[in-house]
Amino acid sequence: MGKETTRRGFLEAAATTALAITLGRKAGLAAEAGLSEYNWEDYSYVYLVDASKCIGCGMCVQACQKENRVPDGFFRTWVERYRIGEGGRVEVDSPNGGINGFPATILDFKVTKGLFVPKLCNHCKNTPCTQVCPVGASYTTKDGVVLVDDKRCIGCGYCVQACPYGSRYLHPVSHVADKCTWCYHRITRGLKPACVMACPVGARAFGNMKNLQDPVRKTIATQPVLVLQPELLTRPNCYYKGLDKEVR
Ligand code: SF4
Ligand code: SF4
Repeated sequence: MGKETTRRGFLEAAATTALAITLGRKAGLAAEAGLSEYNWEDYSYVYLVDASKCIGCGMCVQACQKENRVPDGFFRTWVERYRIGEGGRVEVDSPNGGINGFPATILDFKVTKGLFVPKLCNHCKNTPCTQVCPVGASYTTKDGVVLVDDKRCIGCGYCVQACPYGSRYLHPVSHVADKCTWCYHRITRGLKPACVMACPVGARAFGNMKNLQDPVRKTIATQPVLVLQPELLTRPNCYYKGLDKEVR
């Protein structure tokens, strides 16, 4: 644990009601960002990855690292390469999160299908990460974004262990939990997340389910899409097109 935690401080924090935490934090975030006109009631954010488009260039990972000052060796988003062969053999790799692309490597089986799969926090509707947090530092905003309050986080790492998608890490300097925020500082100003803007082939898209004209909403409503590991019942808000059944 990276922060000294007194028993009194812990009990005081735990005694605060979840409702007060959430309301206060939402108001604080908006005020901090100077977003007096932003109304989260108008948004329910959603993310769409088209794995059939991704070329594994890593520009999204680079953009995220820069935008969010992600420390070297850690990732808020990353890209995995799946190579699938006869007999059900599967090789998955993600060298340095795919930030510099993927070198050609020789496998000992014949590859019949290959694809790149960008990954990030799924901003789940049923969030194991927030449920295990003992101090309410992990929470979901009214516009559907799962965030960490770094002033409240005690660095216990429970949420890192609880996330079945490996989306969280403990920041090596601040010692608090860190993860993708969908660039909350950008989206609440009407901008797209940095990864979406950086992708040269449109493999990543971001939308608002409360806007009936939103193209991402329309795609999710009318085309076959999947979520990662649906059997976990986490109900991700990150959807995928072009996935193979081998992708986890
Ligand atoms: S992907 Fe992991 S960190 Fe993100 S909301 Fe789901 S459980 Fe939490
Ligand atoms: S920038 Fe786009 S194409 Fe390149 S790795 Fe990321 S998602 Fe794939």
